[in-house]
Amino acid sequence: MNLIDDHGRRIKKLRVSLTDKCNLRCHYCMPVNQTFMDDSNYLSPDEITEIVGELVGLGLEEVRLTGGEPLMRRGFSEIVDKLSGLGLKKLALTTNGIYLDKYLDVLKAARVFHLNISLDSLDEENFKKITFANHLKKVVANIKLAHEAGFIVRVNTVMMKGVNDHELFDFVDFANDVGVEVRFLELMRIGFACSDQKDQFLSASEMMKLLKTKMELKSVSSPHDSTSFNFLTSSGAQIGFIASESQPFCGQCSRWRLSADGILRACLLKDDGKKIQAMTSEKRMEMYRELLGMKPAMRPVEVSHHMNAIGG
Ligand code: SAM
Ligand code: SF4
Repeated sequence: MNLIDDHGRRIKKLRVSLTDKCNLRCHYCMPVNQTFMDDSNYLSPDEITEIVGELVGLGLEEVRLTGGEPLMRRGFSEIVDKLSGLGLKKLALTTNGIYLDKYLDVLKAARVFHLNISLDSLDEENFKKITFANHLKKVVANIKLAHEAGFIVRVNTVMMKGVNDHELFDFVDFANDVGVEVRFLELMRIGFACSDQKDQFLSASEMMKLLKTKMELKSVSSPHDSTSFNFLTSSGAQIGFIASESQPFCGQCSRWRLSADGILRACLLKDDGKKIQAMTSEKRMEMYRELLGMKPAMRPVEVSHHMNAIGG
């Protein structure tokens, strides 16, 4: 069996959510009073390893660990250590960066060199407004620490009208000063960001138009299934855009998602998936086959579940 879906797309990448819990409450991701799943529902480190190992045997190449906040998962070190022995081409992490300093050695030992670190504001008050917490200094310090330690760091910034768009140029300066790539994300219609926050939507082309008033953007090539399009600014900053709303990349999508409680989904924007926890390998193979027929060809309009529950 090959992981090729009904539309001829080969599934090469898996996002694995390790927990839905988080120490931030980014206003577009989850409400302040969010409730979380019980830890007893999590896939165990051995179950995660078994599932990923099985998928590697079917052609999976890359895993990105996410959440919620993956560094809040008890047993994180055991999980990365086990996954690092599966022969993946790439094992990566998406994190809010707050606990990153504590895990740099563990990540290095497991050869997890690609880190996406989320940061939506460089201003303390605004960071607090967006995330309902006070961790800006820590996140920035950890971005610098990881970069200096030789990790490949990308900063992910959700750019929102009237929220942080006045910081667009500050982020380009940040990319220049720190020497990391900054990728600007469009706000996605997922969870309550669907209706409550649609006025905050800022498209990648609007961001580019604003940037071009002050700098030149030179296009840089990226792999065909890349979610971002990338540029070098005239000042030498590396920036990129993820235009999931205005220019969806579903046609080239090569990704599945596994939630912390063992639901495998063919798409971030589909509620339905296959619960593959506590199954025999034979039964799981059946589930994979069914899932190959469940990946939409085009972008679903919006989805009601929250991002932290699926894994962004
Ligand atoms: N807690 C980690 C973090 O923030 O990097 C990992 C999980 S988080 C859900 C992954 C990414 O999804 C973050 O970069 C976050 O900004 C993004 N995200 C969450 N909700 C979003 C939304 N409605 N639109 C666009 N991006 C969103
Ligand atoms: Fe937490 Fe990441 Fe969601 Fe922010 S985007 S609340 S850091 S899971």
